[in-house]
Amino acid sequence: MNEHLKAKTLPELLALFKEMGQPGFRAKQVYTWLHKGVRSYEEMTNLPKSLRDTLAERYPIQAPEVVRRQESARDGTIKYLWRLADGNCVETVLMRYHYGNTVCISTEVGCAMGCAFCASTIGGLVRRLEPQEMLDQVLFTQVDSGLPVSHIVLMGIGEPLDNFDNVMRFLELVNSPEGMNISMRHISLSTCGLVPKIDELAKRKLQISLAISLHGPNDEIRNKIMPVNRAYPIDVLLAACRRYYEATSRRLHFEYAMIDGVNDREQDAQELLGRFKGLGAHVNLIPLNHVEESPLKPSSRAAVARFQKILEDGGVTATVRRTLGGDIDASCGQLRRKYTKEQQ
Ligand code: SAH
Repeated sequence: MNEHLKAKTLPELLALFKEMGQPGFRAKQVYTWLHKGVRSYEEMTNLPKSLRDTLAERYPIQAPEVVRRQESARDGTIKYLWRLADGNCVETVLMRYHYGNTVCISTEVGCAMGCAFCASTIGGLVRRLEPQEMLDQVLFTQVDSGLPVSHIVLMGIGEPLDNFDNVMRFLELVNSPEGMNISMRHISLSTCGLVPKIDELAKRKLQISLAISLHGPNDEIRNKIMPVNRAYPIDVLLAACRRYYEATSRRLHFEYAMIDGVNDREQDAQELLGRFKGLGAHVNLIPLNHVEESPLKPSSRAAVARFQKILEDGGVTATVRRTLGGDIDASCGQLRRKYTKEQQ
């Protein structure tokens, strides 16, 4: 068991405080403070000094440091590069939507999935994030920006379902009424398609939104750009999506990064339509963000519009994602990548 107090649920903290001979209300006070994003026990002003000292000695509070902070002059998007306790860096993005401030968090340092278009995976997987390291990204983004966070997307660096248990615990923590109390309905989790984990997630029957990074209508195209497709081909993936939909009644979202000449032809859109029957699918078309190391290019506006029209005419809702923070390297892994290169 992780010995960071911030990784503990309130019932676990209550049990620990009981063992320490402390009353339950103290555990609640500490839980509330930790989930406000304090950096030291000294800030817990309603706690006796002796307890603060004991806790500080036994359970040091870890908090990430800001290495870079970039704010978009266009849309107010703020991107953070954090340094974690062990020196590794991850990114978090705060996006301001009309429905609320949304934080996009990383779930791993690097990524093992190897998608051809993604900057996060270039150096491979370094390690998985602990639950409190995911929580910290939300807490300290809120503290630093002074903007209240109401929505979370697990779409930063890493594959959330490759870090399943820690992600589940993070969701429990961030959803707790005594903590940030962020509704599961305001949380989206995106996966490249780890089928056994999609089934495991379905069993939890969470109210979160599940997004699938599809990026291709068939195995031929997916195999070229997403190695995960060799383990879980598109039919297997979409069958899991169907099971998920049946188990949770939650509408699925599919992400589709539009790549010039790779997956953006009319026939690709037609084929995609055929795949979506009975899935309650919603498609998010994302013009590819160009990654320096990659030869892949974004589709033209016209190609994106044509693709969208074919899907819409076929009865599948398709939206083109508004790109935020284009002036601040705001997509997946770009800032960490740049920083790592500078350090070398
Ligand atoms: N590993 C998870 C979540 C992280 S990525 C997943 O694969 O879903 C969040 C989304 O951004 C995914 O749909 C991913 O495929 C997409 N993405 C990654 N690099 C991109 C790029 N250069 N341009 C557009 N979308 C990208």
